[in-house]
Amino acid sequence: MKLHEHKFFIGISLIFVISLFCIATISASPITVTAKPSAVNDLPYVDYTVTWKNHCPLCGHDETLTFNPKSTYEGELTCSYCDADYCAVTGKDKYGKGPRSRLLLFKYQNYSNNGT
Ligand SMILES: [Zn+2]
Repeated sequence: MKLHEHKFFIGISLIFVISLFCIATISASPITVTAKPSAVNDLPYVDYTVTWKNHCPLCGHDETLTFNPKSTYEGELTCSYCDADYCAVTGKDKYGKGPRSRLLLFKYQNYSNNGT
């Protein structure tokens, strides 16, 4: 009986922790930016408006992405916690040896300069 109660308690605790995690993920408000592609890609070099989940996949922190604090010409997303730079259009981490990770897309808003 004791063992059964113990398992039940662990089950409830797990559900609680998972719920908290989901709430934290949902409550991280997305970040919408307008920028040109700055990572290696085949995209037209025009302005894109894209909404990203405000979550840094490299350090795992939420709400740390800031838009273009380094004033790049294209515009990029930088994590204020681990200083990773991301292309604001493809979401790829701009690491010298190739992207280590990429941002989670919330939605593409529009392509401002082409009709497609
Ligand atoms: Zn980070």
